[in-house]
Amino acid sequence: MKILTNNFEETQKIGEEFAQRVKGGETLLLYGDLGAGKTTFLQGFAKGLHLQRRIISPTFIIMRSYAVDAIPNVHMFYHIDLYRTQTEHDREGLGIPEILKDKNAIVAIEWPEKLGSIMPKRAWKLIFTTVEENVRSITIEKV
Ligand code: ADP
Ligand code: MG
Repeated sequence: MKILTNNFEETQKIGEEFAQRVKGGETLLLYGDLGAGKTTFLQGFAKGLHLQRRIISPTFIIMRSYAVDAIPNVHMFYHIDLYRTQTEHDREGLGIPEILKDKNAIVAIEWPEKLGSIMPKRAWKLIFTTVEENVRSITIEKV
């Protein structure tokens, strides 16, 4: 599925709608350059999960977790941004393999190409591309 959005609100809306599909145990891998709209999508996604707290970019702290109350069987939403991590060593200690096994969690990972050997085999793959200043393409596929 490929979608074009013409402003950030439309990207948030796509994220909000995507949240209606989740049942727990899903992983979202968000690919794309800086500014392509990954975090913006997740802000809408968080709204769709009815999170109490607003999503802020976890770039400087790498991982944030949010309690989820509104969806049966989903207890936690993890937002991980690997952009600032340099080495496997940086990524160890985040506990990502354990989080990915949690059937009651939803995990969204920006810059998933940095996962290396712990890349999940089954996930939603979302590819964000800047087309023009305010236009983004979003490709969503299940892998
Ligand atoms: P990323 O997480 O991929 O680095 P962000 O979501 O943090 O990107 O930033 C996207 C930036 O692009 C924001 O400043 C947003 O307002 C802007 N923008 C402009 N048009 C769009 C669009 N169609 N979709 C998403 N973001 C857009
Ligand atoms: Mg981001």
